[in-house]
Amino acid sequence: MAQAPRYRWQPTTAEIAVRYGLREADVVRFDHNTSPFPTDWAPAIVAPMTRHLNEYPGASYLPLRQSIARYVGAQPENIVPGAGVDELILLVSRAFGGPGTRSSAAVPTYPLYEIATMQNHGEFKPVAYEDTLGYPYDGFSRIAETSDITWLCVPNNPTGERVEDAYIAEIIEKARGIVVIDAAYAEFAGDRWWKWVKAYDNLIVLQTLSKAFGLAALRVGYSIASPELSAGLDAVRPPGSISTLSEHIARDALEDHSRMERFVRFVSKERERFATLLTSSGFGVYPSSTNFLLCHVGPQTRDLAQELLATGLVVRSYPRDHILGDHLRFTVRSKREDDRLVEAVSWINPQLVGTAGS
Ligand code: PMP
Repeated sequence: MAQAPRYRWQPTTAEIAVRYGLREADVVRFDHNTSPFPTDWAPAIVAPMTRHLNEYPGASYLPLRQSIARYVGAQPENIVPGAGVDELILLVSRAFGGPGTRSSAAVPTYPLYEIATMQNHGEFKPVAYEDTLGYPYDGFSRIAETSDITWLCVPNNPTGERVEDAYIAEIIEKARGIVVIDAAYAEFAGDRWWKWVKAYDNLIVLQTLSKAFGLAALRVGYSIASPELSAGLDAVRPPGSISTLSEHIARDALEDHSRMERFVRFVSKERERFATLLTSSGFGVYPSSTNFLLCHVGPQTRDLAQELLATGLVVRSYPRDHILGDHLRFTVRSKREDDRLVEAVSWINPQLVGTAGS
């Protein structure tokens, strides 16, 4: 039996601070695609709940489903909550995958689709992007025809692009089984998926409060799907993977989403400013519909990532033999943090260019 690939945990901020002799406050995560803004508004909301931590959360999570349904425009029976999109990816594989089933994705993409498939003893069929990072349109739609679970990451992590609606519709129509759209970055792309779920009964859309809502620590995500597919996910859902505190803060954020909308507007402006600065630093910056930027850097990529890490700037790099071996991915953070990164690059990178591999 093939060994399931393991998810590689990133070192924690505390671990990085100890390793490089830094203060935790000086470590900046450009690798997690999270919000740079602290949640100063949350303590007031959560304080009354801290008197009632003796009981379990209500296992049906109906109030949370209702808040999500209102935000999405759907009904509670279309919604299944989970501990982040991560848990929902595992639930999809558990409910609809397994021995004798095939799942597929265009790669590079979020690695958990493959890991979840293998953990449930299904077959995973990756369809590789072209060397120039061109989307493998034809190859992937052919594989979807024979896939029980087709994973589409829209917009895609780590490349940042959003495939066109017409192609998504083609995949959903051709797919033999269910199609899962991982829409973790949906709000940055302006996507609303409910009308798609209404139109296609083989579609499951996954969304999260970790990205545009800036609440990654809560671990709250959800699926949007037909009542039948939702019941399939509910059947394998653990009874209490979202804490009462998380549920409470999540509901508040969903009921008043103006904070999220302000953050999305901020990101779209700051992304353009950051992209211009990174281009001036000599990087090839790819178009992005997300809160991160993928950049072609060159043969010095891993040395640069290492030098940045030693100054407390944590960026996402890839193994040498990976299609993105010469690339780095940067989260769009605050202006001050983005400037700090660009400044560090501008004094480290020139020293490395030409010395890489020597
Ligand atoms: N899907 C994608 C495409 C992601 O990039 C991430 C987080 N980096 C996740 C899912 C996980 O999201 P969550 O925090 O909701 O588990």
